[in-house]
Formats: sequence, structure tokens, C-alpha cells
Amino acid sequence: MKFSNLKLSTPYLNLLSIFYEKVEPTPLDKPFLISISKSASQLLGVDEDLALDSKLLEIVNGEQKLEGSEPFAMCYAGHQFGDFTERLGDGRVINLGKVNGQNLQLKGAGLTLYSRLGDGRAVLHSSIREYLMSEAMHGLGIQTSRALALIGSDTDVVRDTREKGAIVLRLSPTWVRFGTFEYFYSIREYDKLRELADYVIDESFSYLKANEEAEELYLKMYAEIVKNTARTIAKWQSVGFNHGVMNTDNMSIDGRTIDYGPFAFLDDYDPNFVCNTTDTQGLYSFRNQPSAARWNLNILARVLSPLMDYELSEEILTNTFWSTYTQIYMEIMYAKIGLEIEHTEDKELVEGMIRTLGSSSIDYTLFFRKLSRFNGDKSDILDACVNREPFDKWLDKYTIRLEKETLSIAQRQRKMLALNPKYVLKNHILQEAIEKAKKHDFSMVNELLKVALTPFDEHLTLEYLCKLAPMNSKNMQLCCSS
Ligand code: AMP
Ligand code: MG
Repeated sequence: MKFSNLKLSTPYLNLLSIFYEKVEPTPLDKPFLISISKSASQLLGVDEDLALDSKLLEIVNGEQKLEGSEPFAMCYAGHQFGDFTERLGDGRVINLGKVNGQNLQLKGAGLTLYSRLGDGRAVLHSSIREYLMSEAMHGLGIQTSRALALIGSDTDVVRDTREKGAIVLRLSPTWVRFGTFEYFYSIREYDKLRELADYVIDESFSYLKANEEAEELYLKMYAEIVKNTARTIAKWQSVGFNHGVMNTDNMSIDGRTIDYGPFAFLDDYDPNFVCNTTDTQGLYSFRNQPSAARWNLNILARVLSPLMDYELSEEILTNTFWSTYTQIYMEIMYAKIGLEIEHTEDKELVEGMIRTLGSSSIDYTLFFRKLSRFNGDKSDILDACVNREPFDKWLDKYTIRLEKETLSIAQRQRKMLALNPKYVLKNHILQEAIEKAKKHDFSMVNELLKVALTPFDEHLTLEYLCKLAPMNSKNMQLCCSS
């Protein structure tokens, strides 16, 4: 199947018109293709080479339509840094339709009813970041929206400085957000809330549907959202990912990661790290991500209360969120350090390791990669620490603990190397790729795509993509401008 031969359907348009605006994309000037992800295209059943599809560029630029496509923007609300905004919506995203369980949308494709004071555009630098991080998150095995193509253009877009406009073609099984429900709750349109819940159950949770009473079904849907969200956040914490803008409008209803803005991977472990300069209170600091997710889930319970018993949903949240989060996080951390058999001292060993990471000044990703090759000789890890002493002691405890394991060293190393990425998209590397892209050299973007999709593999010619941040730019903050 060729990409340009795909046939789309638009089930979201079966909802009442209050849910969306039908709107055509506004193409960019002199568009050009920067990068394509074959991996993402496979989700759509595309098996012909995307690079040879002459219509791809025009479709991503909104100049041509796939068969069945009826473009629209979705309406939603959201709590942004704790404050409620009743009317947000796709201000610069235009949805094209759905195929193979994936909803296609163009980010940066022009004005919509929901653009407010914005220009409907996305600049090149933020589009490169979103495109690559979507694919990298998938490469890390974490639920996420995907990105199939990135195009640049000659259209000027004014932010802090003048930049060029770009468009990312994004895919997701759902683009409904917590904020979509908040909108209909805030305008007291409870029948619309029910309509949306039924749509979400069909789209994302149809496996729950066996003969349930309606209220029971909504509660089950909510329980799934709680679990999925807890799982995704546990995975973020395990890889050291800071999302940066966990507003309820950026929370996917099926718990996957969406809307990549000023994200960061930790350099040295600092639980108080806040990647987003706008977040002056540290609401979405690395440490706060699980509790921010829980706070958002509590908002969701409240806005779903016209459909289900609020006390019961609160009970679900209380009983499920932290237990799911902790169980998944600890399971991942045990696996990351190569522990197969659970022992009573393991929790303390992991907690001790996290404390030690905080006091050793060693890159978070590098530590686990080096630990994956640990064979009893501590020097390789200690040489990477600014402060050697804490890990000197911890590795002694770890060595003793490993003696209780039954796998051979080689078996353990193989398993750990498949769980501890060599490549994560650090901001200083992304910035290098962005600077080159601004000069029309997209080679680094495409090299980053390769390691993003296969982060656990060695790529001998691409080693420079995992170089550490210079001392003076470790755990740097980014601004929201996009
Ligand atoms: P974000 O911070 O990217 O999640 O965006 C928050 C809200 O602002 C969403 O409703 C976006 O659609 C909207 N938005 C962000 N940037 C723009 C823009 N340049 N033009 C129009 N709307 C925008
Ligand atoms: Mg957003």
C-alpha cells in the first residue's frame, strides 16, 4: 500500500458539530520534505517506500487530500499550570481522518476556530523536537503519539526571533484529551459528555464493552485511564524523562505521551529538575510528575461525575494510581539493574542507588548503560562519577546482591543492555541538529531518527549522538516558545 492511496474515515465527525470545527489546512510556502519515519508509516499499513511517494509532501502540506479526508480541528479545555482555561482546542492542528486505528493530524497547518491569539503555526525547531521525540519515545517502548513526516518551508513565523514554519504529520489511536471532557463539563453539556465517553470507549476501550451497565462501563474506562497514565509516568521516571507541560490538555485519554514541548532527559540525576522555564513553581518538576498526573486524574474524575459516582471514581484513583505506578516503576528498576529474583533488600538497594545517583554527578543514562556491562570491576563506573565515593560503596552492596542471581554475567548483561538505552535525545544534541537544520542540513535530524528508533543498539558511526552535555549546560531549562 502506498501512503497517498490510503483511504481515511472520520468517525469524530459523527459527533455533534460542537465537538469540532471543519477547517481546511493553510499550506506553507515552498515546502520541502525533511524527514520521514518508515517505522511510523508501517502502523498505517504502508509498505511502499514513503520517499518515493510523490504526493506525500503535498498531503503533509495540506495541498492535497487523502481519499475520505475531511479536515477538522477538535475543541477542548484544560488546566494549565493549575488554572482552568475553558476554551483551548486544536489551535494549530488539523485532523485529517483515521486509518488502521490511527488518527492522522498536521501540526502547524494554520488557523482554526481555536487559535485564539496564535498564528496556527509551529516553528522548525520545535517541530524537529516533536518529530524526533515522538519516535524516540516509541523506540524506548513508552506509549506515545507517533510522527510520520516532517516538512520545512519558507514561511516566516515570528516568535522570540524570526523562524521558518514547519509541519509534523502526527499519528495517534486517539487525540481525545482529559481537557476534551473538561470542556463539556464546564459548559454543563452533560449529554455531550456522555456522547464523548461513548466515543472514547469505542475508540480506545472497546475491549471493556461486554454487557456492562453504562455507569459500570464509565467507571471501568476511568480505571483504565488511571492505570495507563500511571504506567506511562512510571516509564518516564525510569528513563529520566521530564515532559515539562503536564497540563490536562496535554494528557491523552488513553494514557500515552503526547504534545512534546520543552521536554528534557536528565543529565545528572536531580529530582527537582524543571525543564520548562515557564514552570516557575516547579509544578511539573521531574519528581512531581507522578503527583501531577494524579492531580490531573482527579480533575478527570470530577468532570466525569455526571456520568458516574464520584466517590467510586475517587476510590479507584486512591486504590489504583500509586499502587500501579510503584509496582511498574519498581519492576522496571529491578530489571534495569539486572535483578530477576525478588529479595527483601532490593527496594532499599534501588532507593540507595537513586540517592547515590543524586550525589555522584554521573549522567543518568550513562550510569545504567555502564552498569549493564558491570562484571565486578568498579572502575569504569567510578571514572564517570565526579564524586566517586558514593558509588564505590553502593557497588559493593550490588556485587553481593548479584551473587543471589542465577543468570550468567553474559546473560544478565545482554538483558540489561536491551533495557538501558545508549541513546536518549538530549537537548544539547537536539540543538546541534536544529542549528544545522536551520542551514538546510538535515543529516543530523535523520541520524537522530535512526538512534531514536533503536536506542538500545550500538551505532558505531553515530557515537557522537550520545556525547554528554558540557558541564555548564547540564540539566538546562528550555522555554516554551514553539
Ligand atoms: P501547547 O502548549 O502546545 O500544548 O498549546 C496549548 C494551546 O495553545 C493549545 O490549544 C494549542 O493549540 C494552542 N497553541 C499553541 N501554539 C499556538 C499557535 N502558534 N497558534 C494557535 N494556537 C496555538
Ligand atoms: Mg498541547
